[in-house]
Amino acid sequence: MPATPDEAVRVHSVQEEYFYMMVHRCACGGPWRQTGDAREGTGPRVRHRVEAECFKCRSHRTFAFVLDALEDSKEPIREINRTSAPSRALDAVEWMGLARFYLGRIERLKDPVLRSQSLLDARQCVEEAMKFHTPGVEPPPAESLWSDESRRKVARDPASFAYSALKAMLEKIPSMDRLRQADKMEQREFEQAVTALVKERRPKWWQFWKRFSRRKPPA
Ligand SMILES: [Zn+2]
Repeated sequence: MPATPDEAVRVHSVQEEYFYMMVHRCACGGPWRQTGDAREGTGPRVRHRVEAECFKCRSHRTFAFVLDALEDSKEPIREINRTSAPSRALDAVEWMGLARFYLGRIERLKDPVLRSQSLLDARQCVEEAMKFHTPGVEPPPAESLWSDESRRKVARDPASFAYSALKAMLEKIPSMDRLRQADKMEQREFEQAVTALVKERRPKWWQFWKRFSRRKPPA
């Protein structure tokens, strides 16, 4: 379920936090840039506060998240949600918006690693939208649309959000295994760098994934 504004947002991963911040832009329309963060607690629930500054108007916002489990550096990077439970951070339409952004971005990318990363993100976002669906039932369930804007988008173009459309999209995108294979060189570089940073005892070594994250937010 969606969080109310002063409630912490439950997420499965730091990657999901990143997507939440991408969708929930500044009131001026600008994208956020992370300026700091703090974690509280250990075990299955970790409170994670993320400080952000708007690229455009420089205003500040603190995002409060509750991470379901601590990130393990051995987990594949860019993984959003390994469980079959639907997201509590973004709704079905928001995930599809992100999926379309990453699919559209592939056209503009020349670097094969960046292209495979974009496909990986797109695939995972479609999978997140799919988790809200009842298999075989075309329209997304009413409880998977959390805002008037999402309901309007589905009403305007129901075919794009239908179960069969999502299934067809997933069939066209290479499998996760193949995409992760293509992403392997970057993964290796990532692991080496993480090892080096842990040796240096840098407190925020886990933020290293951001070096590989996209620079352009969705329109
Ligand atoms: Zn702003």
